[in-house]
Amino acid sequence: MANRFQAPKGTRDLLPPETAAWAAVEAVARRVFGLYGYREIRTPIFEDTELFTRGVGAATDIVGKEMYTFADKGERSLTLRPENTAPVCRAFLEHGMDRLPQPVRLFYIGPQFRYERPQKGRYRQFHQIGAELVGGKGAESDVEVLLMLVRFLGELGFRDLRILINTVGDAASRRAYREALRTYLLPLREELSEDSRRRLDTNPLRILDTKSREEQELLVGAPRLESSLTPEAGTHFRQVLSALEAFRLSFQVEPRLVRGLDYYTNTVFEIVSEDLGAQNAICGGGAYEGLIEELGGSPTYGVGFAIGEDRLVEVLPADSLARRGAPRPVLVAPMGAVGEQVESGVRVVTRIVEDLREAGVAAIESGARGGRLFELAEKLGAPAIVFVGEDELVEGTLSVRNVATREQEKLPKRDATARLRQFFP
Ligand code: ATP
Ligand code: MG
Repeated sequence: MANRFQAPKGTRDLLPPETAAWAAVEAVARRVFGLYGYREIRTPIFEDTELFTRGVGAATDIVGKEMYTFADKGERSLTLRPENTAPVCRAFLEHGMDRLPQPVRLFYIGPQFRYERPQKGRYRQFHQIGAELVGGKGAESDVEVLLMLVRFLGELGFRDLRILINTVGDAASRRAYREALRTYLLPLREELSEDSRRRLDTNPLRILDTKSREEQELLVGAPRLESSLTPEAGTHFRQVLSALEAFRLSFQVEPRLVRGLDYYTNTVFEIVSEDLGAQNAICGGGAYEGLIEELGGSPTYGVGFAIGEDRLVEVLPADSLARRGAPRPVLVAPMGAVGEQVESGVRVVTRIVEDLREAGVAAIESGARGGRLFELAEKLGAPAIVFVGEDELVEGTLSVRNVATREQEKLPKRDATARLRQFFP
C-alpha cells in the first residue's frame, strides 16, 4: 500500500475546535484595531525576492538562511513572504498611498514562511497578526501602536505579559554605534562563534542578542548604544517612555534588544510570555525610517508590530473569551416514520432543521436512537436534542431535551425555537 501523505515538515493542519480560538482571536484583532482606525490589507503570499533582500536586509538571518525562494516557470525569482512589513510598504508605494491623507493605518492577518528548524512554537508556515502605521510622526506613532497592541492583548485576557523596549537609534546613531561595537569586539574576534564573526562584518548589532552564555559574557563590557545616540534619537526614546508611563503601561527597557530585521530604527520592542519556554516572544515590532525610501519612496516614518498567532493561541489565558468556541449544533431526531415523511418533495425533518437555522439555531439531523443518541449529543457537545415524532407533527410542537439538565419539554414550535435560540448568543 502506498504511504499516506503528511503535511510538509514544519507545517501543520489547524483543526476544530482550535480553529474557533483562532477565529475568535482574529475577530478581537479586527475589532480593536478598528477602534484605532486601522483597516485590513491583504498582500500576495509571494513577492519578488529582491523586495526582501532589499527591505529586510541581506545580512539578516531571514534573508541569509530562512527564505523559501524559487524560480517560477518564467524564471522570476520569487520568495514566499517571511514577514509582511516589506510587502505592506511595497503596496503603500505601488498604490500611491503616500498621496492619501497621512498617516495610513493598516493591519494584516495571514501566513508567513521561514525555513527554520521546526520545534515547539517554531514552524515553517506560521501566522502573524500585524499592523503598520505609515507616514506618521515619530514618538507619537510608536505610542499609538503600543497602546493598540496592549489593548488587544488585554482584551484577549492577558494580564502578565512583559513589554521589552529599547531604541536602536536613528541611522546616524546606529552608524556610530556599529563602529564602537566593532572596535570593542575586534580584539575578541577569535572567541566569537562563527555566526558572530560573520556578523562582525555585516551586522554587529545582531551579536548583542546572542543566545550563547560565553558570548554574553564577552559583551558585558561592550559600549552601550545609549552613548552613541544622537540628541534627537535620545529625545525620541524619552518621549515614548514617558507617554507609556502616563498610560500606565508596564515595560522594561532592555538595552540588548536589537531585533533581527535591518529596517528598524529608534524604538524596537518585543512582548514575551513566561508560559512559552524557549520560543517566548509573542510579538516583535519597531519603527522603520529608512524602509520606504529603500523601496523607492521618499523618507517616511513607519512603525508596526507582528504578533506570532501560533504562539499567541498557545498561551491564551484559560479564561480568555476567545477560548470559548462557538456553540455546537443541536441534534434533531425524527422518531418513528417521521424520518421518511415527505411533503412537496422535501423530507419534513429537513424542513424543520432548515427552519431552526433560519431562526438562528445551529442544527443538524441525527439518525441515532435511544441511548446512542444521548451519547452522541455528549460527544458532539450538542446543547440540546429536538425530538420530532408523529404527535409533534400533528400538534405543531417540538420536544426539546436540554442535554446538561436532562429536562425535556414539549413546546409549541415557536416557543421551542425561542428556547433553543438561547444556546446561541
Ligand atoms: P524569534 O526570535 O522567535 O525567531 P523573530 O524575531 O524571528 O522571532 P519576528 O520576525 O519579529 O520574529 O516575528 C514576530 C513574531 O512572529 C515573533 O515574535 C514570533 O511570535 C512569531 N514567529 C517568528 N518566527 C516564527 C516561526 N518560525 N514560527 C512561529 N512563530 C514565529
Ligand atoms: Mg526568528
